[in-house]
Amino acid sequence: MLRARYSFLSSSKVLEAEVENLQLDGEIKPNTNLSEVRLRRSSVVLMQNVTVKKLKAMIEKEHKFPPGSIDIVSNLYGITHENDEKLDTTNVLQVVRHPNARIIPAHLSTTLPDITYPGETEPRALLSCGHAMAADTLYQNITVQLKSGKSVLKCFSCKKEWNFQDTSEKAQMSLDEKLFWGMKVSLNSVGDECPKCGYYCQRIAGDNDRAVCMKCSKEGKIYEFCWKCKLSWKDNHKCLSKEAIQSMINNCETKTMPYSNIKDVPSIRVCPSCGALIQHLDMCKEMRCYHCKKSFCFVCLTMCEHGLKCSSYMSKCFVAPRQIV
Ligand SMILES: [Zn+2]
Ligand SMILES: [Zn+2]
Ligand SMILES: [Zn+2]
Ligand SMILES: [Zn+2]
Ligand SMILES: [Zn+2]
Repeated sequence: MLRARYSFLSSSKVLEAEVENLQLDGEIKPNTNLSEVRLRRSSVVLMQNVTVKKLKAMIEKEHKFPPGSIDIVSNLYGITHENDEKLDTTNVLQVVRHPNARIIPAHLSTTLPDITYPGETEPRALLSCGHAMAADTLYQNITVQLKSGKSVLKCFSCKKEWNFQDTSEKAQMSLDEKLFWGMKVSLNSVGDECPKCGYYCQRIAGDNDRAVCMKCSKEGKIYEFCWKCKLSWKDNHKCLSKEAIQSMINNCETKTMPYSNIKDVPSIRVCPSCGALIQHLDMCKEMRCYHCKKSFCFVCLTMCEHGLKCSSYMSKCFVAPRQIV
């Protein structure tokens, strides 16, 4: 019998759903080591590479939930899995259950028009900023903000801050949703940009220096980097010592800068503001530090203020010598 194990975020109980009646299009590849495990005295086959859409359908069927009632998430990373993603079900799936309907209680509702859809006839919640929104729209609005990496919710219209607790109440979040999005708020507040692609990333919960970029992680291959030094993460990773950084600066190649054509510029610098190690790959001499987010001229090392201070990106400036850290 084919089964998947899962658990709702607000419960520690591990449940099982059967898939024998579902069309599976031959996508099951039982893992040779894990294909047969004894669980609850029944023989269970765990599956690999099953689409999220199918997994959701089987769990919803098990509970007689209407379609669209749940999401499958990775709470540790704050990720909601998309329908066409394929998951390895050898792990226990984490499920967020949505409420059947988001009904705003009378004491939280208002007659003000919805700030997003002025013609909205559904009941609207009065938000702390003074604007009003229907609960479904508010929930969508919160999830979009949190998925984009923000740790502070704001009204898109007046830009006033929304408190998470208060807003999650008004969006009529289920307990699962509150746990998941509450976790996402705290993950976002310790987020930073991926050194490879600039995507907003998170640290792996409970592991201080290790971070993962989901955008650079392709099927089966996770891209992890060190939070402190931004190098790719390997087992027993050690950040670069001061001596190692100095030797990289001393021995790096020089290059001719694009646009300004300035010659003999060392290709590796440390940020003049925070000391993070930065390599110049392409684009002009204005460099934004991935660590402190300040910008400086890669050639003369003067800090930028609303753009380059020394000269335009096309023009020459003094080539600062290799730095001493
Ligand atoms: Zn507002
Ligand atoms: Zn990345
Ligand atoms: Zn490191
Ligand atoms: Zn910096
Ligand atoms: Zn300059």
